[in-house]
Amino acid sequence: MRLPAVALLLAGLVCAASAQTTSTGTKWDYIGKYGPLNWGKLDPAWKACSVGKEQSPVDIRNAKLNKALQPIEFHYLTGPVEMVNTGHTIQVNVAPGSYIVYEGVRYDLQQFHFHHPSDEAVKGKLSDMVVHLVHKSSDGKIAVVAVRLIENRGEPNTLLSTLWPSMPKAVGQTAKVSDLVNPGGFLPGDRGYWTYTGSLTAPPCTEGVKWLIFQQQMPVSREQIRVFSAIYPVNSRELQDPHGRTIEASE
Ligand SMILES: [Zn+2]
Repeated sequence: MRLPAVALLLAGLVCAASAQTTSTGTKWDYIGKYGPLNWGKLDPAWKACSVGKEQSPVDIRNAKLNKALQPIEFHYLTGPVEMVNTGHTIQVNVAPGSYIVYEGVRYDLQQFHFHHPSDEAVKGKLSDMVVHLVHKSSDGKIAVVAVRLIENRGEPNTLLSTLWPSMPKAVGQTAKVSDLVNPGGFLPGDRGYWTYTGSLTAPPCTEGVKWLIFQQQMPVSREQIRVFSAIYPVNSRELQDPHGRTIEASE
């Protein structure tokens, strides 16, 4: 008789832990009444989630080739990182100093985090996972570099092999990674990308975000997916209406 009671209690705890609050104190989640369809109603500051016309993610199709698009310049440093289980994803905070330059603007790398499956689709197809590298300029503009990860013949992702053993399993838990990390390890050899203007894919769904999505996917092993999805089975937002926005391709 005792075992089922314990199991029920544990299930209750897991459910309570899955819908986490933000720094503003508002609870949100990826399913149920705190899920994406209701984000815009949960907090007045999150209105863009429901009424915004530049929301992300979008399905990437019919991209317009623009040969004038510049390469993204990466200036990533090797340094210490800290992993945080935010209640919505595993976020990796980096030491200051890493940045990109895009269209003449410097954007400093703040953190990177993961979604399973990918938020963004290409011609209707999601990837197994995606890493979002979030950058901010000195005047507050946000640029997110997205690297889609695909399970392919069991090949592991080298950088995830360094990070995953330290993954904090409990919500709110943080963990230092013993090895130094260079986020450049996520970047594909082929630097062709798609770009469009969108939003954060989680509350507050802030718009005016420059999205830079690599066309080439990087590997992730089934085991690496399993480790993440054991904590976050689904942490991606459904595709949003592009409302006539143009997606450009660098090549
Ligand atoms: Zn993200």
